[in-house]
Amino acid sequence: MFYWKNIEENTTPPEQKLFIGGHWSDASHAAYFEDRDPTTGRLIARIADSTSGDIDRAIAAAAGVQPMWEELSPTDRASFFYRAAELFVERRDDFARALIAETGSTFGKAMYECSLIPVALREAAGLTTREIGEVLPSNVPGRINRTMRRPRGVIGVISPWNFPLYLSVRGFVYALALGNTIVLKPSEDSPVSGGLMLAHLLSDAGFPPGVFNVVTASRESAPRIGTAFVNDKKVAGISFTGSTKVGQQLSAECARLFKPIMLELGGKNSILVLEDADLDHAVDLAFFGAFLHQGQICMSTDRVIVAKALYDEFTRNLVEKVRKFAPCPPDDPHSVIGPIINDRQLQRVVALVDEARAAGAIVCCGGHAQAPFYQPTVLTGITPGMRIWNEEIFGPVTCVVPADDTEHAIALANDSDYGLTAAIVTADGQAGEILAERINAGMVHVNASTVHDEPHCPFSGIGASGGGGKWGPKGAIEAFTVQRWISTQRRKAALPF
Ligand code: NAD
Repeated sequence: MFYWKNIEENTTPPEQKLFIGGHWSDASHAAYFEDRDPTTGRLIARIADSTSGDIDRAIAAAAGVQPMWEELSPTDRASFFYRAAELFVERRDDFARALIAETGSTFGKAMYECSLIPVALREAAGLTTREIGEVLPSNVPGRINRTMRRPRGVIGVISPWNFPLYLSVRGFVYALALGNTIVLKPSEDSPVSGGLMLAHLLSDAGFPPGVFNVVTASRESAPRIGTAFVNDKKVAGISFTGSTKVGQQLSAECARLFKPIMLELGGKNSILVLEDADLDHAVDLAFFGAFLHQGQICMSTDRVIVAKALYDEFTRNLVEKVRKFAPCPPDDPHSVIGPIINDRQLQRVVALVDEARAAGAIVCCGGHAQAPFYQPTVLTGITPGMRIWNEEIFGPVTCVVPADDTEHAIALANDSDYGLTAAIVTADGQAGEILAERINAGMVHVNASTVHDEPHCPFSGIGASGGGGKWGPKGAIEAFTVQRWISTQRRKAALPF
C-alpha cells in the first residue's frame, strides 16, 4: 500500500475522499479544502469537506454495523487490532513522513508519536477480554446482584493536529475494542496523518466495513460535525481532544441532552525545580518539556518555577542552551524546532509575547517570529496579571519564575484554572512524590518532564484541562461502556403488601 507515497509523488495533488461504510466517497457537494505543508506552503492534497448529509451517512453506517461488531467474539475483534499493529510497523516510515510534511513534526517527534501506535493497538486488543461485570452480595435472602457492561454504541471522535496520529488513535481505539463503532473527524490541519491514513490501515487490517469511518471537514465545517455528534441520537458519546474553548462549547451542548463526552483539553503546565535539584538535568528537562514540537503539546512546560537559590544560574544555563537551537525545516534530520502549524497559531504566540514584553516581561532570548517559525523564547519578569501567565501558550516559549520556597513554588504551580500535568525536579524522590500529591494536575512526574504519555496509563486533566473520564484502556471501560445492575430473586421473597 503506497498511499502516502502516492500523495508525496503526485505532481497534481489528489482529491481525498471520505471513508464511510468501508467505501471511499466524495463529499456530496464535491467541496474540498486545501491541506498544506506548514513549512513550505506546498499543497499536499485537496480534502473532501463533509456536508451534513455525509455526516449522517457516516453515523448511519456506524450504527448499522454496531450490533454485529459487538457480537463478534473477543478473539475475533482482537485479531483486527493485532493485524493493524503489524501493518502499522510496516508502514511506520510513511506515517512519520506524513507527520513531518503535514504538521511540521521534527523527525524525533514523528518517530516518538509513531512508537505509541502499535502499543495502543495491542493494548486495545487486550481490552476485548477484560472483565465486563461483577457479582455483589444482596441483603435480601435468595437474591443475587450482578453488574454487566456493554458498549455505548456509536462514538463520535474529534481530534487535534498537534499529535494527530496518536490523539486520533487514543480517541477511538479503546472504544472500538470495547464493541463501539466510530466516526472520526480529524483536524483540518492533519486530515491525512490524523485520519485518512488510519482509514487505509484499518481497512487493510480487515476491520469490517462501517465499524470505523472518517469524515473530514474544513475549519468552517467543523462545527457542523460537532452539532451532528451532539444532536444525533444514534451517537451515544463523544470523545474530544482539543482546545478548552471548543471542548467547553461541546460539553455544554452535550449536557443539555445528557450525552456523555470525554474531554482532553489545554494545559498550563509547570516544572518545579527545587533547591536540591541537579541543575544541569533540570535545565535539560525544562528545555525538552518547553520546546518539543515547538511547544505545541498540551503537556508543554509553560512555567519553569525555580528555587531562588538556583534561579540566576538556572536561567543563564537554560538561555544558553536555547540559543543553540535555531528553528529549521523539519525534514532536516537535525531539526529540533520546526514550524508553527498555521498563521493563526503563530499570530497568537506573537501577541502573547508582545503583550508580555509591553507589560514589563524580559525577553532573555528569541521573542520574534520568522514565519512559519517562532524563535525559541525564554521570558522572565513575569507577573501573575499577564495573559501569558494565565493562558496556554502552545508555542516555543517558556516563562522562568523564582520561588521563595517550596510552598511558594506549589502556590505558583496551582495558580491556574488548568490542571493537566506538572513535574518536580529534586534530589529527594520521596519528598517529590509527597509534593506531587499537592499539585492540582491529573498527572505529576518526579524527576522527569511534564511531557510524558504511556498508552496504558490513566492520562487525564482536571479543571479546564478536561473531564468526563480517564484515557487509557482502564478509563475507557468507564467512559465507553454502560454499566447495568441486574438482580435476580432466586427464591420467592415475601412482600409487605
Ligand atoms: P481546536 O479545539 O481548535 O480543534 C480540535 C478539533 O476540534 C479539530 O478537529 C477541530 O476541527 C475541531 N473543532 C473546532 N471547532 C469545532 C466545533 N465548533 N465543533 C466541533 N469540532 C470543532 O484545537 P486545536 O487547535 O486543533 O488543538 C490545540 C488544542 O488542543 C490546544 O489547546 C491543546 O492544549 C489541546 N490539546 C489537548 C490535548 C490533551 O490531551 N489534553 C492533546 C492535544 C491537544
